[in-house]
Amino acid sequence: MKLAERPAAQMKLVGGRVCLDFVNTVGGREPSESAKLAATSGQIRADKLADYDDLLAWSWHAGLLREPSAQNLAREAVRRQPEAAAIWRRAVALREALYRLCRAQLHHLSPLSADLETLNQELNVAHGRVRVNSAAGHFVWEWTDSKNALDQMLWRIADAAAEMLTADDLTRLRECPGESCGWLFLDVSKNNRRQWCDMQTCGNVAKVRRFRARSASAKPAAARRQRR
Ligand SMILES: [Zn+2]
Repeated sequence: MKLAERPAAQMKLVGGRVCLDFVNTVGGREPSESAKLAATSGQIRADKLADYDDLLAWSWHAGLLREPSAQNLAREAVRRQPEAAAIWRRAVALREALYRLCRAQLHHLSPLSADLETLNQELNVAHGRVRVNSAAGHFVWEWTDSKNALDQMLWRIADAAAEMLTADDLTRLRECPGESCGWLFLDVSKNNRRQWCDMQTCGNVAKVRRFRARSASAKPAAARRQRR
């Protein structure tokens, strides 16, 4: 399957930060009782990161890789399968750690040190890959030796996550209350009242439900009037 045709490359990017879009690479999360705790990920529905190529497809879709790089890495991954599989496992571990860290924050719980450790390990890798270069009369940050590095999307995700956790207003972090959704997003709306991950999906379902509930409760009254 071509990268662009994979479900991971069709996902809505509504998290407001790339690290939250990465956390949202699942169809949804079932909010079981135990998932209320910061230590659990909830039951994942329709995981979109089933293998390394899904990770590549999503990274291209989310703008972390240009298409030629993604195609190059897809070819490299065929040659270096065990390494690609290990990076996919690191990616899923990072995603779940980020989910639990955000959830701990949302529910005012202490984050798990193991989750912080997972993020910090990825940050270590990432920060070992940055350098300062000179370009057109000014200095720039850049990533080094990234051409054939199969894990380069993880550098960017870990970096973005650290930036969000330390610099963003986390009182604006939200968890979509849509049924079996659980997607996370940062509410950057002016009025600070964004409720849904996406109005077209969860917001719409809720609207239809409210409408049906209103129609159902209106019926008996109408029926009563008719009887009179
Ligand atoms: Zn939702």
